[in-house]
Amino acid sequence: MTRRQILSPQPSTSLSDNKSPQPDDASHSLPSSVHHAYPEQEEASPQPLSLSQAPTALAKHSTHLINAELLIPGRGKPMTHVTVVIKDDKIQEIHSTASLPAHLQSLPSTKVPVLLPGLWDCHTHLLGSKSFNFGPILLDSTATAGARLAINVQDILMSGFTSIRDLGGFAIELAQAIEEGSLIGPHIYSAGAAISQTSGHGDVFDLPSGFVTSCLGVRDTQANNFAPGHGPLLIADGIDEVRRAVRLLTRRGAKCIKVFSSGGVLSIADDPLRQQFSLDELRVIVEEANRAGRVVAAHCHGKVGIMAALHAGVHTIEHGTYMDEECVELMKKNGVVYVPTRTIVKVGVDHPELMSPESYKKMLETAKHHLAAYRLAVKSGVKIALGTDLGISTPTTHPLALGKSGGELTYAVSDGGMTPLLAIEAATAMGPEVLGDLGMAPKTGIIAPGYDADLIALPEDPLDDKMDLFKDPANITHVWKSGKLFKRPPSGGRDSS
Ligand SMILES: [Zn+2]
Repeated sequence: MTRRQILSPQPSTSLSDNKSPQPDDASHSLPSSVHHAYPEQEEASPQPLSLSQAPTALAKHSTHLINAELLIPGRGKPMTHVTVVIKDDKIQEIHSTASLPAHLQSLPSTKVPVLLPGLWDCHTHLLGSKSFNFGPILLDSTATAGARLAINVQDILMSGFTSIRDLGGFAIELAQAIEEGSLIGPHIYSAGAAISQTSGHGDVFDLPSGFVTSCLGVRDTQANNFAPGHGPLLIADGIDEVRRAVRLLTRRGAKCIKVFSSGGVLSIADDPLRQQFSLDELRVIVEEANRAGRVVAAHCHGKVGIMAALHAGVHTIEHGTYMDEECVELMKKNGVVYVPTRTIVKVGVDHPELMSPESYKKMLETAKHHLAAYRLAVKSGVKIALGTDLGISTPTTHPLALGKSGGELTYAVSDGGMTPLLAIEAATAMGPEVLGDLGMAPKTGIIAPGYDADLIALPEDPLDDKMDLFKDPANITHVWKSGKLFKRPPSGGRDSS
């Protein structure tokens, strides 16, 4: 996208105006002064606003300004010394700070060193769980899970992630609590339950099959308090059941559909290299989802599972561990988005205590192949959006706890081989693209007029070899979601009000 497209068509931003925002040069370095924008607060962490504060934080002013020393727009080149005009929940205009129109100059403003779009984690699991073992996830009360998740969703937002796509858990229900104002959290786009075949990645092999289908089947469930389709997993076999599975999930409020088209790591007894669901079943899932305006995300490791998912018409490939050039070519041809989930691989190998011994063995084996697949995808120009596969709720300090998604940007550069700017695009502008173009994708992830005002600020330029900044939520100084300020440094960091 060119600079002309990013900037609003205001006189002050015309290309002939030498005061207009300039794309940054190759070094992307900031004036040294902006590295210490809050010198008196260096020891203090930015503060989340409380539930009662946050929704009313900007109630007095429906229009406000953010002055950024450096603006990284999500797609396109960075700009320096820019003022973003926010009206209600939208980005209205972008001006050069030096030539801000007079009628805007008295508006309340916030000054930040570096402004970016709010980040996306395109692969989470809001399970409310202490481990990745499926048994306890099935047996814990949903009230317990929900109580744990209340903290997680706030942590996610405060770490700079203003949007998540959840691919199996209780995220639809959490989203409801966030939207009504009961909880603070990100925008959530959820698949509801992930669809698995019997003896597939979503089956719970250490519990009796009849009990599992009684909890997670598409017909009347009896063994727990999930209505059919309301658990984190949904077991379906055959054309009729997979069709019903998709319909149950759209009824529950899913914004996308998730299917396991190969075995997985965290299930005890299946094989990541083998395909799950027949091609006919996968095609019906995609057909039924697309008819309802939803695209399909496919969990897959082995090549047969990846190719079956692609032939069925899925929109995103999750993990893609054994992806080769044939897979990559088909993905490019079909406009399929790859979500690498590097965090679960990178950090998961260090934490055998979170999974069964059988799963840990598979974790080590798949980890051997994942890096090559990721690098191949980056090198060949497949569309990539970042997602972590995080799903631990407690303790919140655990490196695989929800709210620790920022490392995925670091790994995109250090492991995937992306440039820092591309990694940021994969975590911002690419986010909505995982939801397809059938009507579920929001207009966010880019700082441009008309986009949702989901924004974050950093104290330093991450492009200056500082992608590690994203790893620590304390480095996210400000978070705006839908134009409302949810996090700021202790003094407020305001120029004026
Ligand atoms: Zn997952």
